Amino acid sequence: MQHFIWQSKHILHYKDTRNQLLGEDYASFLSTPLAAGSLPVRQLWQEITDFEQQVSANESTYWLKFELLWREFFRWQMRKHANRWFSKGAVKGALDFAAPALNRAQHLAFTRWCHANTGVDFVDANMRLLNQTGLMSNRGRQNVASYLIHDLAIDWRLGAAYFEQRLLDYDCASNWGNWAYIAGTGNSAERQFNLQKQARLYDADGSFVRAMLLQAPS
Ligand SMILES: Cc1cc2nc3c(=O)[nH]c(=O)nc-3n(C[C@H](O)[C@H](O)[C@H](O)COP(=O)(O)OP(=O)(O)OC[C@H]3O[C@@H](n4cnc5c(N)ncnc54)[C@H](O)[C@@H]3O)c2cc1C
Repeated sequence: MQHFIWQSKHILHYKDTRNQLLGEDYASFLSTPLAAGSLPVRQLWQEITDFEQQVSANESTYWLKFELLWREFFRWQMRKHANRWFSKGAVKGALDFAAPALNRAQHLAFTRWCHANTGVDFVDANMRLLNQTGLMSNRGRQNVASYLIHDLAIDWRLGAAYFEQRLLDYDCASNWGNWAYIAGTGNSAERQFNLQKQARLYDADGSFVRAMLLQAPS
């Protein structure tokens, strides 16, 4: 927090860099201490406010606070709907806690997704990053989730459960809430991403895919 806000002042260009896929300072990387409880969110909010008052307030400082409000939203939603978030239709439709059923082809496709072996470079690069580091950018998370749910037609809860096992910053409300958001089982319509377009937009020169895939699998 000291580094991102006060020392390097990366907070001042957060809005422009937050959609990057790889690197050290494009976003705050504060989700892990927030999820672990070692950084109280009120303290982080206050530090940003202090910075805005003492140094500078711009669209980026606003945007970091805005993202913290998403975190807040999902936490209150988890309190409101409780275990409904783990039902197939989450906050929509009848309760259904039956285990997700996969046919043979879906089982294979799910295994390949987990192992970063789908054949879609943009998905595989992000999944390899997750498997190697326990983290993935927000842009990457949205895309691999969309691919699993909308392209492979696999129950969103399996993706959420896999992330739960892997993420260093795993947070029950943020994880299940975001997965439901992409699936359309949360508070809004489903979100489907065009993977090719996303790769062109956010990895235009292919450097992220190359960095992740042109290395020996670990
Ligand atoms: C499918 C999926 C699963 C996710 N699972 C988790 C999870 O288990 N734990 C988790 O902390 N975040 C999760 N997120 C949200 C987001 O991807 C991460 O919070 C962010 O990538 C963490 O990196 P950062 O700390 O550098 O974020 P920054 O961009 O620096 O954002 C600052 C803080 O705002 C909060 N935040 C940012 N985006 C979101 C968001 N979309 N929803 C809720 N809070 C947000 C986080 O606390 C984050 O640390 C998930 C998103 C998706 C699409």
